[in-house]
Amino acid sequence: MKTPITVAYGDGIGPEIMQATLDIILAAGASIEMEEIKIGEQLYLKGLTTGIEPSSWESLRRTKVFLKAPITTPQGGGFKSLNVTTRKVLGLYANVRPCVSFYPYVHTKHPKMDVVIVRENEEDLYAGVEHRQTNQVYQCLKLITQPGSEKIIRYAFEYAKANNRKKVSVFIKDNIMKMTDGLFHKIFDQIALEYPELENDAWIVDIGAAKLADTPEIFDVIVMPNLYGDILSDVAAQITGSVGLAGSANLGEHCAMFEAIHGSAPKRAGQNLANPSGLLLGAVMMLVHIKQAEIATKVHNAWLYTMEQGIHTYDIYREGVSTMKVGTKEFAQAVIANLGKSPSTLPKVAYSNFTKQIKTSFSTYKADKKLVGSDVFLDWDKGSPDDLGKMLANANLPDLELSVISNRGVKVWPNGMPETFCTDHWRCRFLHPKGENITNEKIIELLSKITQHGYDVIKTENLYTFDGENGFSSIHG
Ligand code: NAD
Repeated sequence: MKTPITVAYGDGIGPEIMQATLDIILAAGASIEMEEIKIGEQLYLKGLTTGIEPSSWESLRRTKVFLKAPITTPQGGGFKSLNVTTRKVLGLYANVRPCVSFYPYVHTKHPKMDVVIVRENEEDLYAGVEHRQTNQVYQCLKLITQPGSEKIIRYAFEYAKANNRKKVSVFIKDNIMKMTDGLFHKIFDQIALEYPELENDAWIVDIGAAKLADTPEIFDVIVMPNLYGDILSDVAAQITGSVGLAGSANLGEHCAMFEAIHGSAPKRAGQNLANPSGLLLGAVMMLVHIKQAEIATKVHNAWLYTMEQGIHTYDIYREGVSTMKVGTKEFAQAVIANLGKSPSTLPKVAYSNFTKQIKTSFSTYKADKKLVGSDVFLDWDKGSPDDLGKMLANANLPDLELSVISNRGVKVWPNGMPETFCTDHWRCRFLHPKGENITNEKIIELLSKITQHGYDVIKTENLYTFDGENGFSSIHG
């Protein structure tokens, strides 16, 4: 029985690299039944803001396996990223990107690099919750959830175990984002305890990124929230020799999507130039996923052999190392001719159908949540922080008093610094004077008083404690 998969040829170099990839895996004996769907630019330009026909979801839900070429997302407002939508709609929470160097056959400054980046795929700043709130200020909401973090971090440890890896690292910025990245780090530390056989370490993302770009051989598996993972997996792939060399798997409980990590490279389109290796290695991951490990092994080893032969596309071609500069089609033909061969210097691969299918879980513990105050955000440009502090104090209720005002996160009242630059976006923190619990009705009463005084309330954030711990950050300054 052939395994049904959904295929999309995409835009730019997409159709060429997809054809090359399918030619290779079919020649290797992949047993797949393909259903083609149309995605990308042509649909965006027809007015479908999602870049996909509603009927295509039916194919994806049925086959549960998607081999996808890159697409072009038109510039400008209104168009939604199809990748982000697909990952969220199909619940593809884990993005796995192996970044390996193929020294000395592909030029790289990092001959020993073999890093797998496990990127959280659904949350973080990619939740797409953005607002313009005042004349001067725009905001993007960073959402890090406890189940989302547990799922991806556990996935990274399980992946490391199943693939005989030695270490899992986490990259975070919890010295600044103490609550969101702090949660990711805390969960990493908790889950790491369950895997004593694996080493683990934590890096602040800036120095972690610098080390990754400089000495990638010190890393093995790295788990990251969405944004850092997005940026750093491109860096990691590029320093192996080319972004054209890395494939990626997007995995969820029900479905999976396989792709190259690069985009549609429109400038290279239609010229038989593009390197199909990224999509091919994505397809290799797909073959392992659909339990055609033997075919995956055959394709991957033939590809490594072709790399060793020096048959290279323009992006990795290098005088003295490469032997032949080829186009997309000729590269595919060379890999097909090498099916059955294995590399002699580069490590051979051997995939197994018995590799554990990773299932992750998360805790459902509910903390005791208490409402203790409200951050009221105002659009205001009528004076100094002291003016605002004095005037707002008139809105105080016996149970909710103004305690501090900040602007762009920095305390400006009481006792702010005159040098602090202020925008028209003010956060005014109201708390019970004795730290007692309050009700939602009290906040509504407060808001009505504030608006009666003529202020433009642009949003509020309730302040809670969870099991007695503050569920909100303290204010700088
Ligand atoms: P890109 O990755 O498409 O290309 C950047 C450069 O990398 C190209 O100019 C080319 O020199 C090189 N390159 C990329 N893939 C290559 C390959 N297979 N072989 C040889 N060289 C290759 O990035 P971009 O130019 O920033 O984006 C182009 C379009 O792709 C945009 O519309 C973007 O939104 C989209 N995009 C799509 C995806 C996806 O569908 N998964 C991912 C990233 C970007």
